Amino acid sequence: MIKNIFKKLKNRTGKYEEVLFENLTVGTVTLDKTYLDKENIIREFIKNPNKRFGTVGEQGEYFEKFIATVFELAGYKVSLTPLQDKGIDIFVENKKKKYLIQCKNYNVTSQKVKLVGESEVREFNGVTKEGEKILITTSYFTGYVKYEEFKNITFVDRSGIPSLLKEIVPEIYNKYEKECKKNFSGEICETCNKGVLVNKRKTDKIVLLGCSNFPNCKNMIKKVKSNISNEKNLK
Ligand SMILES: [Zn+2]
Repeated sequence: MIKNIFKKLKNRTGKYEEVLFENLTVGTVTLDKTYLDKENIIREFIKNPNKRFGTVGEQGEYFEKFIATVFELAGYKVSLTPLQDKGIDIFVENKKKKYLIQCKNYNVTSQKVKLVGESEVREFNGVTKEGEKILITTSYFTGYVKYEEFKNITFVDRSGIPSLLKEIVPEIYNKYEKECKKNFSGEICETCNKGVLVNKRKTDKIVLLGCSNFPNCKNMIKKVKSNISNEKNLK
């Protein structure tokens, strides 16, 4: 499905016109035209990565649009696949590389945080299209995911998003470095130093936190809300 094809439009900086607007295939998402619009999309997401929407589709699009725009500004040709295409969300390529990207926008502020599990990784791994794969999430990967089994996949979790920005769009990263560091960081698990503590259960009175690296790490911490100093390690 093609909604818009932009041809080499001039943008304000003049820096990106060679690469930005060629062959832009848009599924359900409309990408904006100018460099400033693109930077706005990125800034909006960096400032508010936890923004919630009414539907899963809108939720996914918010994150996909951000990632697609990041790659566009990095000089890649970008196409977003239609919503019904479950396997891949975004194709990006330049002269040297072709990537297939799958995005998972999960809410890290919910009562029970959803992590990206092994089955989702296997499903993406099974996609038979040419290109290196990137699996990227606003959440984290569970300890069940054995990274060494999936050599063709680059895994980017929430804490890796700033590194991705720093690597491919450093000028934007530098501008919003402070927000990136603040808004994408989690509470590192002190037991394993690998996982991040996420909500397992949250009520009016307590927050039960568990390590994202479960089952490799079984650290659990209970915080009582009325008195946050009343922390109890449940190991
Ligand atoms: Zn841990």
